[in-house]
Amino acid sequence: MNGYGVGTTLVTGSGAPTCGFVYKLVSRADSDDPGAPLLPVAKKSANKGSIGGRKSAMRRLDANGIAEAEVIGVGAEPQPDRDDRILLKHLVRDGEIIGREPLSVARARHFASRAELPSAAFKMSKGYPAIVTVMLDAEETRPSTPTHPRSDPRSIMTRALVVVDVQNDFCEGGSLGVSGGTAVAASVAELLAGDHGYDVVVATRDHHIDPGAHFSATPDYVDSWPPHCVAGTLGAALRGELAGVEFDAVFDKGEYDAAYSGFEGRDHARNVTLAEYLHGREVAQVDVCGIATDHCVRATALDAAASGFATTVLLGLTAAVAPASVDKVCAEWREARIDVR
Ligand SMILES: [Zn+2]
Repeated sequence: MNGYGVGTTLVTGSGAPTCGFVYKLVSRADSDDPGAPLLPVAKKSANKGSIGGRKSAMRRLDANGIAEAEVIGVGAEPQPDRDDRILLKHLVRDGEIIGREPLSVARARHFASRAELPSAAFKMSKGYPAIVTVMLDAEETRPSTPTHPRSDPRSIMTRALVVVDVQNDFCEGGSLGVSGGTAVAASVAELLAGDHGYDVVVATRDHHIDPGAHFSATPDYVDSWPPHCVAGTLGAALRGELAGVEFDAVFDKGEYDAAYSGFEGRDHARNVTLAEYLHGREVAQVDVCGIATDHCVRATALDAAASGFATTVLLGLTAAVAPASVDKVCAEWREARIDVR
């Protein structure tokens, strides 16, 4: 581990349930003597960029209590100064559990620790560090010059955000309102108002004229639905929260049939499909957000991955028709090598 990310993912299996944590062997004693020195353990693969050995970590806070660096000691503990907070917590010692604490304490610690993060941490994208990492060698007593972790190769890829079906009818008050839809609209607008880092930002719209059995007077909410997003109606319009967003292109789908995936959509002004457009812009990485998690976001993300894009679903920027189904959908995405965060 070369740094502590925020909001990044840890994959411990391909969609299989795990016990929720991993062990990492970082050093081992060179003999059975309890006082024997610890030797670093590191992979020898050529591309392994991390530094082997036992680490200690502190969070360095500024005068306002906001995190400005993670200070990591390799082999020796860094000396705290000012308001530095030690990050490592012992949970087991000599086989005895010493780190047991009530859930309420863990929750309070989590909120306090989250409150230390700079606002940029809440807008960062995968692979970007929110806080600089300062590495200290065992011999060093003072921090070296702060260094940003190695640049992520993905950062030079062209990245697109696909905003799926954030339309009036899919938000509260709409004919097929999804709980949380309006909040998604506001959050996406906020993301796009800032320095979001996307090279391409597009939207999709459900855009029905006569979609057959997709509409029903007695909908089952699985394959049939109350009439919604009828072309030309207010319900089909993107939510007002997104009025200030200049989408590079908008893809309409479902004119005469059900169409859950945005990749079934077409930008009629440019006469291109979503895949054609993204490939034309040399997009390599696609992030997907919008409504609804378990239907159109699900299908759009699966099609993005199947179309060859490195795909991530921004789960916090989605809203589900059936929240209980989201775990299953996430497992399906991960099976398709889609990141979920
Ligand atoms: Zn529809």
